[in-house]
Amino acid sequence: MSDKNIFKGVNTICTHVGQVKDEQYGGSVSPIYPGTSYEYIDKEIDRYPRYSSTPNQEFLAKKIAALEETEDAIILGSGMAAISTSLLAFLSSGDHIVIQNDIYGGTRNLVEAQFKRYGIEYSFTDGLETKSFEKEIKPNTKAIYIETPSNPLLKLVDIKEIADLSKSNGLISFIDNTFATPLIQKPHKLGIDIILHSATKYFGGHSDICAGAVASTSKHREIIWNLSKNIGGSLSDYTAWLLERSMKTLSVRFFAQQKNAVELSKYLIDCKHIDKVFYPGLEDHINHDIAKKQMDGFGAVISFELNKKMDPKTFLKSLKMINPSMSFAGVESTMLSPAETSHYLLTPEDRIAQGITDNLIRFSVGIEDVSDIQNDIEQAFNNFK
Ligand SMILES: *Cc1c(COP(=O)(O)O)cnc(C)c1O
Repeated sequence: MSDKNIFKGVNTICTHVGQVKDEQYGGSVSPIYPGTSYEYIDKEIDRYPRYSSTPNQEFLAKKIAALEETEDAIILGSGMAAISTSLLAFLSSGDHIVIQNDIYGGTRNLVEAQFKRYGIEYSFTDGLETKSFEKEIKPNTKAIYIETPSNPLLKLVDIKEIADLSKSNGLISFIDNTFATPLIQKPHKLGIDIILHSATKYFGGHSDICAGAVASTSKHREIIWNLSKNIGGSLSDYTAWLLERSMKTLSVRFFAQQKNAVELSKYLIDCKHIDKVFYPGLEDHINHDIAKKQMDGFGAVISFELNKKMDPKTFLKSLKMINPSMSFAGVESTMLSPAETSHYLLTPEDRIAQGITDNLIRFSVGIEDVSDIQNDIEQAFNNFK
């Protein structure tokens, strides 16, 4: 019986699926197989790290496929290795792709800096509604790419509508599912073909691992795998082992972070130093209806706008526990100013057009006691009295 049949719940999958069995000693954790040379005579699998086929790489992929409810998955060296390899595996010179307007900066940079050199055409949508995607489809369009919730305003795209639009036009659909995780959003069930992850974020969860993953059908995985062998963006077995260990607590960490985020979103609304709070769980969030329809929770990232008279830098520097640092999704709470970091390269006009003001703060909620997080924010506000 395959793992899939026995282990159904996400907590159980996180803990048990994708373990490399210790046949020799019966240890209860996966052994590490760092080998780069494996027997080949009469073996079905050609095991080699760059082929993502060592035991640790292969078994970790099973955990991710089980969570995403796809046939298969592949682990790669970073989120961008997963994204670039997957896109380039399906797009050839002369093809066109429709891409969501506000996606992860690294993905946007890949498209804008590299695609032209390969003769790949692209259009970014004007908005996030399905009709904005439909409008950009041309005779040579091959694929649609979405990322929902988006960074940093947590706007949502209707996944099922995009999957249906892709199917009716014969396109391959891609989603970056990093922000939501498969714990609260399962795009494959809604019809999306290729699911991408920066495992550097919630999958790793301790701000100490860089990795990526792709989940899909076996047929699509084969196409991506063929290119990944050429490109060589594989994940080290030591990191694969550490990631498998981290993912055992993915659901416990994520749901604790989400619980804190729900509470803090309500607290932040009532803060007199804050003008606006962006969280899909809030009823006044522009996409709250889509969130309720396609997500089983609202995630653990909140963005908020400080009062105009407050200097975001002074606020961030006044925090004592919450670290003003890049990236997100670690067990520790962090905050950053998108205008100063992720969206720094945009012109001020483009930032405003996307709704990103200089006073916007992105808050990655951690697992600390919610009262301590709240107290830290409160004491930072006291600097502005
Ligand atoms: C961080 C991130 C990526 C890139 O992942 P790396 O592991 O840094 O390569 C892609 N998409 C999203 C949404 C991210 O947050």
